[in-house]
Amino acid sequence: MKLQDKVAIVTGGSRGIGRAIAQALSDHGAAVVITYLKSEVPAKEFVAALTEKGRKAMALEADVAQLAHAKRVTDQVREHFGRIDILVNNAGITADNYLTFMTEQEWRTVLDTDLGGVFYLIKTVGKEMMRKKSGRIINISSDAGLMGDMMRANYSAAKAGLLGLTKTAAREFAAHGITVNAVAPGLIETDMIAGM
Ligand code: NDP
Repeated sequence: MKLQDKVAIVTGGSRGIGRAIAQALSDHGAAVVITYLKSEVPAKEFVAALTEKGRKAMALEADVAQLAHAKRVTDQVREHFGRIDILVNNAGITADNYLTFMTEQEWRTVLDTDLGGVFYLIKTVGKEMMRKKSGRIINISSDAGLMGDMMRANYSAAKAGLLGLTKTAAREFAAHGITVNAVAPGLIETDMIAGM
């Protein structure tokens, strides 16, 4: 129970990798706040399963691509739990297409969610962590951000951008006792790759 008394936010924690991360954090004693956009029922069922076991857990609806939602999540978690120790920026989407066919909409939505969303939450939660002079931020990038990927100009650009954002945030926050890291997984069988 290394994370007893710690409070963690996991974006997109209702399913896939985010859910597994939230489960692991909870298993180690942390109170977990998962955010969801469309998956309200799985999010609430997951939280109910955790609370039935006596764990502290909460689900919040939020679109990571909107700064106002990031602010609301930060405020709600601070008001409810009084602190935020861990932020896992996991929520992400794909909108695959060959580069020359990729629409502006496909480009923008993926960049806004996979990169902009992380910026918004680091900005709002980071301020909260700075006050406490401690925190752990983990960003889920992808091997696509390191190597590129067919039909994923938008996704690989966002995930590569996330590495630059991570390194800058790590430099800015180091003096405040906050670490910022990125993880770049390879293929993992979730809904995201179901159509591949
Ligand atoms: P899933 O498609 O299974 O889950 C995506 C999650 O992101 C869902 O919980 C979804 O919530 C949430 N989400 C999507 N858009 C938004 C939004 N605008 N606001 C809030 N939440 C949102 O994906 P994975 O679990 O596979 O992927 C998780 C992360 O891991 C992503 O960042 C992905 O890029 C990365 N990754 C995945 C790999 C893989 O092979 N699966 C490999 C490398 C990295 P909801 O259902 O409520 O909409």
